[in-house]
Amino acid sequence: MAAPWQDVVRDAAAVRDAAAVAVDAALLAGVLMRTGEQPLSSDVVNYAPFTLLPSAVPQALFEQAYTVQQDFNLLVDAISQNREFLEQTLASTIKVDDFTARLFRIYMQVLEEGLAQTVFLGINRSDYMFDCGLDGTTALKQIEINTIAASFGGLTSRTADVHGLVLKVLGKTKEASHLLPNNPAKGLALGIAKAWELYGSQSAVVMFLVEEIQRNIFDQRCVENELWNRNIRVIRRRFRDVFEKGSLDGSRRLYIDNQEVAVVYYREGYVPQNYDQQNWEARLLLERSRAVKCPDIATQLAGTKKVQQELSCPGTLEKLLPGRPEAVARMRATFAGLYSLDEGEEGDKIAATAIADPDRFVLKPQREGGGNNLYGEELRQVLQKIKDSPERTSYILMDKIRPQPALNYLLRAHSPLQVSECISELGIFGVYVRQGQEMVLNEAAGHLLRTKAIQHADGGVAAGVAVLDTPYLV
Ligand code: ADP
Ligand code: MG
Repeated sequence: MAAPWQDVVRDAAAVRDAAAVAVDAALLAGVLMRTGEQPLSSDVVNYAPFTLLPSAVPQALFEQAYTVQQDFNLLVDAISQNREFLEQTLASTIKVDDFTARLFRIYMQVLEEGLAQTVFLGINRSDYMFDCGLDGTTALKQIEINTIAASFGGLTSRTADVHGLVLKVLGKTKEASHLLPNNPAKGLALGIAKAWELYGSQSAVVMFLVEEIQRNIFDQRCVENELWNRNIRVIRRRFRDVFEKGSLDGSRRLYIDNQEVAVVYYREGYVPQNYDQQNWEARLLLERSRAVKCPDIATQLAGTKKVQQELSCPGTLEKLLPGRPEAVARMRATFAGLYSLDEGEEGDKIAATAIADPDRFVLKPQREGGGNNLYGEELRQVLQKIKDSPERTSYILMDKIRPQPALNYLLRAHSPLQVSECISELGIFGVYVRQGQEMVLNEAAGHLLRTKAIQHADGGVAAGVAVLDTPYLV
């Protein structure tokens, strides 16, 4: 599945020219990030890292990923409403993983009080790699579903134009015209706007809950600006602001700085480092409120690695989505092998298998954001150490996906231009809105292709490993 420009990859002069054009095009198009040195100021910005060339993606797998997205939207939504499933599935995890346990406590607390929220908005991104079999066939295999703060839907709306220009510079005009338009930011904003409308208060705002460090602000601005274009007011606040100035009225409407908040869109709150005691209190306040949380705490829990592993067990999908055998089959076809490390015979067996043959697996804790998984020798050592302790339960095991590498250049500010063997990960953005029991919107909103050098087993764009890319369908 090589792209039709693997010939030019070795032409140093052509590559150098194209890279110079590419970087300026990215800056012009707004493929931007703040710098590590000045993450709170837009005075100095850089281009977000991206590939020089679009990467080949098998068309059939690309279409498969789009087709199954509405199924995954339904699934995530169903899990978020299934207390029994979440309780049972996370029971062993919350005994040993403090972060999941704290989220779970808030979940139980808001359920006990009774939900004030009646409109639900999900924005997720289901990520895949193209597993290459021994016979050369490729298969779409899900890496994970991100149910909170799934990013780069904004910046990636602008990469297709940049890559189109690069292909033209390289004399590939016909190929340039085949790049697909893609605008997840617009689709995300559509979902937020729908939720805002159903909340039903013209004067209420959408609040982006953002991190203290805001390097990826331009990605978020793409979505914000789509909302302003629809005459919906957007404010940006941190947990700290919510703690200091947030309040609920008698019917649990959320107010901050005297403004009513209709929708809270989290771009924060997915890792333990995002929380101190005050931030946990702010999170609880938000969850108790009537505002539409994207995601609500139940939907965040639906995105844990432990839930993902449980979904792969026989019968689980059928139980969660009764009467939808086609959807179940479409989703299951994308699952890689996933294994529980819960205490007991089955867990002992798979732990022993992984210690004997670590390169077959990835060991995953209940964490997000890249850079947390363990591979190879490190996997073996860690598993060896914890195999007889309850700590084992905070991880899951997954079969390692093996994509076919392709040559490309990863363009990153202040880095030399050099060719790398690369693999890609395709994400599809899903958006849905539910009012009471009625699904009023369920869509695939666009895609994100991220590419990294094969030396890095793990890590996303924000983690400084992967870069933005554009799929070229083959
Ligand atoms: P996170 O929540 O940290 O993003 P992921 O499950 O997405 O966790 O894993 C992070 C990265 O690790 C992925 O982007 C991918 O590059 C790599 N990875 C994860 N699972 C696998 C797998 N089963 N096979 C190969 N690589 C994987
Ligand atoms: Mg990931």
